[in-house]
Amino acid sequence: MARPKIPLIGLAKGMWVTLRTLLTRPVTVQYPVEKEIPVPRARGVIALDPEACTVCMLCARECPDWCIYIEGHKEEQPPSKPGGRPRTRATLDRFDIDYALCMYCGICVEVCPFDALFWSPEYEYSEAHISDMLHDKDRLTDWLDTVPNAPALEKS
Ligand code: SF4
Ligand code: SF4
Repeated sequence: MARPKIPLIGLAKGMWVTLRTLLTRPVTVQYPVEKEIPVPRARGVIALDPEACTVCMLCARECPDWCIYIEGHKEEQPPSKPGGRPRTRATLDRFDIDYALCMYCGICVEVCPFDALFWSPEYEYSEAHISDMLHDKDRLTDWLDTVPNAPALEKS
């Protein structure tokens, strides 16, 4: 025989959850009035060191979202020794990341062989228009100032 339902038990349980929640400190903050400090290695935004970039395109090729746009050109440099052959050097003209597409996987930072990309914990760059989520070379370079220093190497 089915037991009769006692609706008061469910009500009491619900009231207990409400009371407990009322007396518990909230885990959320009233952003933007209150701000949390992200951990130093948080994936906030990607910073670019344009001097280190060799326009190898590796990051753009490996990006699963195809949201890195790079353009460059080759410039002829004088030979390093008298009588030597002239050298060519790749110069970066354009480096954009579209944060409306980026999924913050970090592959571009990992694969860059020349340490030209870094994570910054900065996260306050939301925009009213989606097209403004495209950060160009200058804006990505400006993020460099917010990149935390690398932690000291562990002694083996
Ligand atoms: S974090 Fe991932 S998705 Fe974003 S630009 Fe880098 S590789 Fe592309
Ligand atoms: S992988 Fe590094 S060096 Fe190569 S294009 Fe990307 S940022 Fe520049």
